[in-house]
Amino acid sequence: MSLLTRDGWLEAHAYLRPVGELCARIERVAAGLDTEAPGIPNWDDYAGDYKAGVPLLRSPDAAIDLEPAGKLVIALVEKTASDSSAGKVTAEASALAADLRGRPGAPRLVMDWLLGEESFDPPSPGLLRYLGWTAAARYLFPLVDPFGRWRDEELWHRKYCPTCGSPPAMGQLVGVDPGRQRFLVCGGCGTRWRYRRTQCPFCENDSQRLAVLGVEGEAGLRIDYCEACKGYLKTYDGQGDEAVLLADWTSLHLDVLAHDRGLERLATSLYDLGSLRAPA
Ligand SMILES: [Zn+2]
Ligand SMILES: [Zn+2]
Repeated sequence: MSLLTRDGWLEAHAYLRPVGELCARIERVAAGLDTEAPGIPNWDDYAGDYKAGVPLLRSPDAAIDLEPAGKLVIALVEKTASDSSAGKVTAEASALAADLRGRPGAPRLVMDWLLGEESFDPPSPGLLRYLGWTAAARYLFPLVDPFGRWRDEELWHRKYCPTCGSPPAMGQLVGVDPGRQRFLVCGGCGTRWRYRRTQCPFCENDSQRLAVLGVEGEAGLRIDYCEACKGYLKTYDGQGDEAVLLADWTSLHLDVLAHDRGLERLATSLYDLGSLRAPA
């Protein structure tokens, strides 16, 4: 069976099955929720903030309406809380849902929190980050593509996502030398943006090369790391199903490997909650 499909991957990495099944279930629930499409901003209004490094969702001039995204997040939390088959996750989601019901302006509060503000202190922050970005990415999807076509990548080259401001979750190498390009992948909103190939996306040290830890038989996945800060980024360098191999949870075993080598995960992760942890 091919490693390059979701099923083939799970066949070859049976220990990822629980996390894979949970992700599939949550995705299905999220897909069943109704939401509206975000308005497309007037890009000229946002151009100044873009040049100054302000991510789209944090720009007052772009004025993206995040209220519907927040409502979608809360709907997903409520649905997960009522799904009795999800075990520990159901219990955590119930506590989260109860907490959010008691907060005025919860949709806005949740979105501010996902965007990095300490707007409140949720129970189960790991689960909220995961459910929150699963829902918010669905709402933002119609925006990410036109934004990608509008923006001049040469004017960004920053270590955080141009859409939501998160640090990268993974990296991707695209094309062949000499025109080969490196992209960073946002684990939250799903945006990919271009970044210098030799520069560390955490400490921004540019040593002219990053060290590479190859992993045999992993369909083009490898670990790029920085000698200066020991931060690493799982990087995909193959031609398979990008949706599978850039999903982050599909390579949690590489995080274990990197950890064993004394490297540090400085990339964001949606999968740090107890029930989704990779096996040690
Ligand atoms: Zn993002
Ligand atoms: Zn570094």
